[in-house]
Amino acid sequence: MKNRILDLLMTAVLVAATQTAAAEITLIHAGQLLTVAGERPASEQTIVVDGDRIVDVVDGFAEASTFGEDTRVIDLRNHFVLPGLMDMHVHLQGELGPNNEKETLKMSSQLMQMRSIHFAMKTLMAGFTTVRDVGSSAQEMYAMRDAIDKGWIDGPRIIAAGGVGITGGHADISGVKPELMEYWTDASICDGPYDCRRATRNAIKYGADLIKITSTGGVLTDRATGTGQQMEMDELREVVLAAKRMGRKVASHAHEEDGIIAALEAGVASIEHGTYTGPRAIELFKETGAYLVPTLIAGKTVGTMAVESSFMTDAIKLKAARIGADMAGNFAKAHAAGVNVAYGTDSGVSPHGTNAGEAVLMVEAGMTEMEVLVAATINAADLIDMSDSIGTIEAGKYADIIAVDRSPLENIEELLDVDFVMKGGKVYKD
Ligand SMILES: [Zn+2]
Repeated sequence: MKNRILDLLMTAVLVAATQTAAAEITLIHAGQLLTVAGERPASEQTIVVDGDRIVDVVDGFAEASTFGEDTRVIDLRNHFVLPGLMDMHVHLQGELGPNNEKETLKMSSQLMQMRSIHFAMKTLMAGFTTVRDVGSSAQEMYAMRDAIDKGWIDGPRIIAAGGVGITGGHADISGVKPELMEYWTDASICDGPYDCRRATRNAIKYGADLIKITSTGGVLTDRATGTGQQMEMDELREVVLAAKRMGRKVASHAHEEDGIIAALEAGVASIEHGTYTGPRAIELFKETGAYLVPTLIAGKTVGTMAVESSFMTDAIKLKAARIGADMAGNFAKAHAAGVNVAYGTDSGVSPHGTNAGEAVLMVEAGMTEMEVLVAATINAADLIDMSDSIGTIEAGKYADIIAVDRSPLENIEELLDVDFVMKGGKVYKD
């Protein structure tokens, strides 16, 4: 029996070895190439890709013949080539609009899952090769993440959060009749430190890559409960500690400064939105090194909808108008003060596939084009602890590579029109 298992193992090893040897080499000829955001781009470079990984970057346009018969060449000599972009705040299961209530009641979860795959593809085609989904029906999102990882379906790499929220808070169900609220109240809802410890462990048990909390109220909660601190210090600390014990980070949605400060003091890795980041919060950001994930495009979207659309309730509209008006200005101050920024849109509030719109707003708020690219690659990779495998175009990393017509360092709007997308060595758009 032992021998048979050994035989089988040896066969598996041999098959794997043959497959590796046969893996096709791809050469990407890049007119301009930004290997590492923050460094100067170089011209006339060749990226050598073997299977799903980058194996080398060489000067000049290398000849295919030097790499063997089956070598494929991708001609991006007229393009600006850069690492795949990363969005640290998406919601792939929905899209804000007048049909939301109808969808909630009428769309099957199976159909919703199919639509999530469609939204994920829109995101990938927009040049975002990695996303962090921070608020979805968890099992469906974990399944989509895993199916993409296994190559069964196409989509961006997904880092999926499990939520932990308090009764009546931003993460809890709102806006429907009591019987339905009861039906939809999730196991992720907790009160008090011990209950939130349970909810955190529970989220990790079922597959969360990180924990998403909501330390303050939120705009789209259909209750007039404000946008200030909602979770208590003991709850915040307990979630962060329980997550840390199992090797998970915590991201906190937060608008008002009291909730930003509380979450940072508890030790979260990122603040999402951070609308009213003021002087004390800025100090804490710098002390802890936590990232601010600004989601300016979400602020702009809800601010506009509050004025132009009729589907928002009054409770939502009031919060949307205020947050929408204040987000970008406060972000500009936080950035100017030197807070670490990781790129994030809250897509699902704004339409999926328009993720690059955030970059334009970040530049309008005072970031340089290069700082935006750092936020969307190196900083994002650091936030999700994947700096070893993604975020730059260097030997050993996954071949997550995109291209645009001209340099986004001169005009950030180039990112709105991505011409080429490769993820893990597979070409999705050219
Ligand atoms: Zn969000």
